[in-house]
This record gives sequence, structure tokens and C-alpha cells, in this order.
Amino acid sequence: MRQILHIDINSFFASCEQAVDETIRGKPIAVVSSLEGRNCILLAVSYEAKAYGIKRTMSLKHAQSLCQDLVLRVANHTMYQDFSDKFIKVLCEYAPIVENTSIDEAYLDMTGTERLYGDIKEFAKKIQNMIYDKLLLPSSIGIADNKCLAKMASDYKKPLGITEFYSANIKKQVWPLSVDTLWGVGSKTLGNLQKLGIYTIGDLAIFDKAQLKIYIGESSSEMLHKYANGIDNSKVISYDKNNAKSIGKEITFEEDITSRDIIKKELLLMSEKVATRLRKVGKKAKTVTLKIKYNNFTVITRSHTLEHGFNTTNSIYKTAVDLYIKQCINSMPIRLVGVQVSNIEKNDKEQMSLFTNIDDDKDERFEKSIDIIRQKYGYNIIKRNI
Ligand SMILES: [Mg+2]
Repeated sequence: MRQILHIDINSFFASCEQAVDETIRGKPIAVVSSLEGRNCILLAVSYEAKAYGIKRTMSLKHAQSLCQDLVLRVANHTMYQDFSDKFIKVLCEYAPIVENTSIDEAYLDMTGTERLYGDIKEFAKKIQNMIYDKLLLPSSIGIADNKCLAKMASDYKKPLGITEFYSANIKKQVWPLSVDTLWGVGSKTLGNLQKLGIYTIGDLAIFDKAQLKIYIGESSSEMLHKYANGIDNSKVISYDKNNAKSIGKEITFEEDITSRDIIKKELLLMSEKVATRLRKVGKKAKTVTLKIKYNNFTVITRSHTLEHGFNTTNSIYKTAVDLYIKQCINSMPIRLVGVQVSNIEKNDKEQMSLFTNIDDDKDERFEKSIDIIRQKYGYNIIKRNI
């Protein structure tokens, strides 16, 4: 039997803010996209704020009417990414296989480590304490024999839960749960399922597959039917940073995003991180890939390959934005965006002088001096604007 853990940081953005500022620990806080504009979005709320009935989807005005003392913080995505990197580093110290699936979530494959770590539940508790001791971030952990169940188990009890779901016990543990707690069921699918009289995961598990296909489509019905029956054979895949065939960054928003400006700003921040990494390892890439996950869980990736290798923010950002503009003719809300570069080669100076255009060369020299300043004074000392 496999032993898979899914670890999810609770109220990630809000918890990061409380971790760096002890004066707001234990207080109701909300992270907002900006303080300007009437349509301010609540991106994350602390558990103390949730106790007042404040939810992520609320308007700021509504939230403040529920709690006058609500503390506000403007989102600082660079800081959250740094926390995320540290979170993954802690996991990599203990687990043989770590898959980082979003800014605040990861899977561990702990199969075969019992002799090393003993009881899996004890190990989960140790990891949870370690993340709190080192980073002051609360997490929930799911333990299961596959990824789907592990993910659902970590969702089951928040904050600071540890829950075990096993496919052998699925009828007793998972079937009574509401069908919207099943991994992959979004609000649209939920509506369709309810029309069919499917309210629990058990209802779905025993529902006629051919009928289901007619109402929610072939691929969704196949996948959800498997999940409802506790079947998921997908592997936990670790990402080897040192021997990377690709370098990428992605961000999952706590709130679905439709604003093009916000997406472009995130693309710029990620392009900059990816370019910095390329220069750090002395490489250039030729292909840029844009990844978008919409709020209905559809994922699209689009790539473009340039003639010459590049390692500058500008070249990555421009290509990523081109791909984004071409792709986003609709205004479907976006849950995740990512930028990845591949087709990586050594940064050969002679090649560069022959084939690189002068602008790229200038950009590279300029950005290398930024790297040096940042190395000395910290990454956040210099900020770019779109
Ligand atoms: Mg989370």
C-alpha cells in the first residue's frame, strides 16, 4: 500500500502576514489586493477573522461591518513565494519524494519509510510541528493511499488537522461526505450533479456511468467516478531543482482573478524570478511556456520557442504576455498562472555575441548588475513595474 501525505498551509497569505508581524498574531486579519478602489477583494482571511463570519469572497465593506477591528494587509506575493520556497525546503529534508502543486500545497510519497520514521500519523504530526516551529505557519495534513484521498483528507479538518482516509474504508469515511468536497467538483459541476440527485460522494460512486457521461461530459465523468470510488493511480512526482530541464514559477490565487493587470503583474514577477534563476545557473533557454488554470479546473499551456537563447526578464515577460493575450480572448476567471522556460542550454559567450541581438545583450548586462545588488541587499530592494 502506498502512503501519501498532502500538506496544505491554512489561510496561507494571512498566516504569512501573522508570521512576520507578531502584533497581528491571534487577531482577525484580511489580506487584500489593494486598498484603493471600492471593489477591493479579500484574498485571504485569518481564522480569527473567520470566527466573525468573514469569508474570502466578501467585499471589504461587508467584512468591516462584521468586525470593526479587522486588520488589513496588502498582498505581498514576493514574500509569500519566499515562504513557499522555505516550506518546500522543510519537506525535502524529511521526505524522499516531494511534489509542490501550488504555493501552499505539496504531496509527499512516504511509501517504504516506516522503518525510518515509524508510524505515519506520528510522522505527520512531526512535520506539522516542524513547519510551525520553523516558519510559524499552521498546516493541515491528509494521509491516504492515493493523492486524491490525501488531498480530500487534508481539506477535512482545518486548521491544524491530521486526517487519514484509506480507499479500503471509503464507504464508511468518504461516501457520506457532500459531493462538493470531492476533488475536482467545482460549482458548475456541483449544479449538474445535484440536478441528477447526486448529493453525496456515495451517490456519485454508485451512479450509472453512462448516464453521468451525458450530463457532465466524458472526461469529467470518468475522472470523478474514479475519485468517488477512491481510485487514483497518479504518482507523486518530485521536481529536481539541480538537474532541471525546465525552470518555472507558478502562483495559485486564493481568489479567482479576471483583471488583466493583476495577471500581467504576476507574469512579470515570475518572469523576473525565472530569469534570475537562469542567470544564477549560467544557462539560457529558448522556449517559454505559459500555464493557465481556470476556475473550472481546465488547464491550458501554450509555448513559444525563440530563435536564440535568452535569460532576461524582458524576453520571458514579453513572450509570456503575448501568449496570454492570444489565449485570453474570453474573460474566464483564472485560478493559477505559471511561467516556465525550457530548451535550456549553457550560456555560451561566443554564441551569444554572434546570435544575440544587441538589446538582449544590454538587458542581460543590466539585469546581471541587478542580481549583484540583490545578492548584497536582498531580493526586494529593487522592484519592477509593468
Ligand atoms: Mg491553503
